[in-house]
Amino acid sequence: MDAAMDELMLQKCIDAGLRMTSQREAIAKALDQSFDHPDAELLYKRVIKIDSTISFATIYRTLGVFERAGLVQKVDVGDGKSHYEIARDQHEHLVDTENGQIHEFKSEELTALLSQIADKMGFELTSHKLEVYGKKHGDVSCRCIQIKVY
Ligand SMILES: [Zn+2]
Repeated sequence: MDAAMDELMLQKCIDAGLRMTSQREAIAKALDQSFDHPDAELLYKRVIKIDSTISFATIYRTLGVFERAGLVQKVDVGDGKSHYEIARDQHEHLVDTENGQIHEFKSEELTALLSQIADKMGFELTSHKLEVYGKKHGDVSCRCIQIKVY
């Protein structure tokens, strides 16, 4: 991973006009370095490696700030925890019910279908959120659209 990738979230925060403290910078950095959907607790463990003075409450509060600014999205995979990811292109999540791993996928067919459904109901589809659950059949390898070990 190059330095530019590493700074993406920080740049987004600056572009969004957020006041950046060193603590917020550390949290942005930990998010940049996360290629999964960490919950606040896991993110906390990563952040304190960058800045050990940050409290869990600060992480939690900052995630709220990032979320309200549209920079971070919450992902609910049904385990009772909020998971987080940097907001980016529309994609869906498929949760492996056997190990809790979250896999990402994109489907134009799905978007077209949801658009049709919304249309039939007299609506224009503006966005959607969908979590899919399943277990792997056999020993097939993962076909995620991104780096996916969770
Ligand atoms: Zn995702």
